[in-house]
Amino acid sequence: MNTSSTPQTNAAPGDASSPDRFGNVPPHVFQQAVEQAALAISITDAKADILYTNPAFRQVTGYATDEVRGRNESLLSYKVTPRIVYETLWAQLMRQRVWNGMLVNRRKDGSRYLADLTITPVVDAEGKTTHFLGMHRDVTDMHRLKRQVENQKALIESVVDAAPVAVVLFDENQQVILDNQEYKKLIGDLGREPAHTLLAAMGARMGAEFDRLRQSGRGFGSQEIRLDHPRRPPRWFSCTGTPVEEQDVSADAFYEPSRRRYLLLTIQEISALKRQEEEIRTAGLRALLTERDRIQSLRETMAGAVFQLEGPLNILAAALNMNGRRGAQGELTPLLATLEEALRSGRQALETMRACIPEEVDEPAQAVQLNAVLTDVLRVMTPELLAAGIVVEWSPAETLPEVGGRPRQLATLFRQLLANAIEAIQESRRQHRDIRMTTGLEGDHVVVLIEDSGPGIPPEWQLKAFEPFFTTKGANQQHIGMGLTMAQDIVARHGGVIEIDPETTEGCRVCVRLPCVRKEVT
Ligand code: FAD
Repeated sequence: MNTSSTPQTNAAPGDASSPDRFGNVPPHVFQQAVEQAALAISITDAKADILYTNPAFRQVTGYATDEVRGRNESLLSYKVTPRIVYETLWAQLMRQRVWNGMLVNRRKDGSRYLADLTITPVVDAEGKTTHFLGMHRDVTDMHRLKRQVENQKALIESVVDAAPVAVVLFDENQQVILDNQEYKKLIGDLGREPAHTLLAAMGARMGAEFDRLRQSGRGFGSQEIRLDHPRRPPRWFSCTGTPVEEQDVSADAFYEPSRRRYLLLTIQEISALKRQEEEIRTAGLRALLTERDRIQSLRETMAGAVFQLEGPLNILAAALNMNGRRGAQGELTPLLATLEEALRSGRQALETMRACIPEEVDEPAQAVQLNAVLTDVLRVMTPELLAAGIVVEWSPAETLPEVGGRPRQLATLFRQLLANAIEAIQESRRQHRDIRMTTGLEGDHVVVLIEDSGPGIPPEWQLKAFEPFFTTKGANQQHIGMGLTMAQDIVARHGGVIEIDPETTEGCRVCVRLPCVRKEVT
């Protein structure tokens, strides 16, 4: 290395022997350090004409020191670097400030590379820039990798954005860190962070199992979530959660890698499909309830006929017993024989009739969404409600866990309660003709409130109302007083409670509480 090209320092000449800010490092060590440095180092005069380059400079540029000495650094310039970059570079250097930036350079063989260059002005004791120290390295590969990552990210983002399902990525603190266009549309539709609402609904549905699932970092398959709204039709979403892990990129985690957990939630609206299903189900329910009514009236008619027949047959049997059936010699008199024959065939006919009374058909228990059952019942009863001029205020809980039960029985229960309410309002002839139906969650119970603006039930009858054959209706009306008894029976079979709210002074308020079931994760 030519000593004349040694970079100057602020140390005054002659100070080399005395301790300075470099301590006891001898000058030749500085030379060796520059020579052996892995960075491409060049030292120029104040016009950027090269005086010295180290071996690493040759490795990067292909030029040996002798080939470039006396030539301007611009020989490396590949003229695609914008002019403004050089102007900024020189403006900095003129202010005796360090400049760092990226330049596109051309090697001796004509190939290009991206140089991460730092230029430091070397200022003498008089404050004049005498030299420049240039240090650069080839960062082409790093740049390529960075661009590849950026391209991949842009590609993934455009694929995610174009996906026909809503996609959202949460961090461990439930913060949304990525979403797509479909998800943004959902925000517009639902008015707030929809993923939080859906996760809360899933939590309500699965209970503690959901918390365990989230903590364990496991995902979940298609979970169907129903969101109810008082004034809009319900909406259904199928949600899938996929856990995603990422290496912590902070410096702290360099030697102790740690992972960050994310949850990728894909949300697909399935309302159209569900509405079709609902229509089919409502039609089925309507047919079923009609059939139930028919069977019920058949049962009642036949039970009534059996009852009617039992009376005379009992009288006949009693008469035969009282008068003795046989003559003195133990033989049957013709009259008694005829009566006995009449009694026998009467009893046989009675048994035949009893056997013909249709049985109640049992249905399997399952997880039932009460909001759905109530919506179906309301839809089935719409013609009756319209005919009676009754307005229904339906306030379903936005999300509701399922209850364990038999959907048809539950539909029968709520139809009965609604029918009672309609009848009570019809009877009262009040101006306000409305029914309020509300669902909610109280602890582990789903609560359904049905309130009507009818005359209500006096406190002394509120317990009796559930007794068989009790009716507040006049004798001329066709009531056998079995509606609430049947309702109580269904609620009891579902492990729930039904009561008439004694606090209500206006109309009648029936409260049904049914235990909810937490759904297992699939
Ligand atoms: P130029 O005509 O050289 O300069 C472009 C602009 O810079 C003009 O506005 C001009 O006025 C201004 N300018 C140029 N020289 C000076 C000066 N001495 N004082 C004030 N303003 C000036 N360039 C690279 O492309 N690759 C490198 O690796 C590289 N390394 C360098 C290392 C050092 C230590 C120094 C000092 C400069 C380095 N340069 C490098 C910059 C190089 O000297 C040229 O300025 C640049 O290459 C542009 O060259 P040009 O011929 O296109 O334009």
